[in-house]
Amino acid sequence: MKKLISLMVSMVMIFGSISFASNYNNQLNNVNKNIKNVKDELKNKQNVVKDINKIILELDAKIDESEQKISVIQNDIAKTQAEIDVTQKEITKLEDNIDTNTDLLGSRLRVMYRTSDIDYFQILLNSSDMEELLSNMTMIKKIVKNDKEILADLKEQKDSVETKKISLQKEEKRMSTFKASLESEQKVLEKNMQEQNSNKQMVVKDIEKLKQMEDALIKEANDLQSKIRELQKTKGIGGNYKGGVMAWPVSGGGRVTSSFGYRIHPILKEKKLHTGMDIAAPSGTGIFAANDGRVIFAGTKGSYGKAVIVDHGGGIVTLYAHCSSILVSDGQDVKKGETIAKVGSTGYSTGPHLHFEVRVNGDYVNPASYIGG
Ligand SMILES: [Zn+2]
Repeated sequence: MKKLISLMVSMVMIFGSISFASNYNNQLNNVNKNIKNVKDELKNKQNVVKDINKIILELDAKIDESEQKISVIQNDIAKTQAEIDVTQKEITKLEDNIDTNTDLLGSRLRVMYRTSDIDYFQILLNSSDMEELLSNMTMIKKIVKNDKEILADLKEQKDSVETKKISLQKEEKRMSTFKASLESEQKVLEKNMQEQNSNKQMVVKDIEKLKQMEDALIKEANDLQSKIRELQKTKGIGGNYKGGVMAWPVSGGGRVTSSFGYRIHPILKEKKLHTGMDIAAPSGTGIFAANDGRVIFAGTKGSYGKAVIVDHGGGIVTLYAHCSSILVSDGQDVKKGETIAKVGSTGYSTGPHLHFEVRVNGDYVNPASYIGG
């Protein structure tokens, strides 16, 4: 909001001074329109930020949800592992039981076998013992039958517990696989989150840097108004404009990357005033004087970097900024098309280009209406 207010204040300052100049009254409506556009653009940008924050919140919620799911499955796995431990203990206990019963059965069988091995003759001789013997044998047979049943039952129990253990192990394996897939999904979400945050940080940094650059350039342009008027009075040539269409100021043409007026900044997504015309060309390319005139400034001018200002009479000057080198000096008369400086990227500039301005009594105007295509 502070930024918006300061932007509005600077707009009012810039256009306030223009609107009071008699020949700029008709621009007041355009100014109001532009201020509204800037407001709209800022609102749009705020909405974009809102959208980004919404995405980040959604990602955050998804990560929370995933963490919860993982913790639930982790609990289930622990429970299953405890159940597996229980079944293992049961199996061990049943195995011991089976061993004991097998031993018992074995000894009983041995007794029975020995008893059944008794000589028939001896049985006849000891007929009184015969009855006892037969009864003993019947009893042993019953006990053995019972032992066998118990053993079979124990083995059945053991089989059923083992089956349960295998199914629990399968369940655990299934849950572990699911947990691993949840964890890899979460890693993707976290990576996405990291990327979103670092992108956001980078964009915010870029926005801040570019805002500072743009604001500094606009401030420089505004500060120059009175300075140029003063230079025109003290060093200028006065009289009438030298006349005619101005020469194209860059050797070989170059490429217009930004024209005069409001432009929607590709990164800021805001409408910003551009006080001149940007012509991109390799560093060291010759910069031509747009018309006959006298150099009223040649030197470094803050965010403009190395700059030259030429007075062409009639209150009209041209300004050449971001130069790599200056080939003329203060007070020097120059001819139209004469090389006065070289293209560079000094001051606040993102790459080699000429920032070219046309000023009428200090106020910047669209250079396109003065120079030939
Ligand atoms: Zn520029």
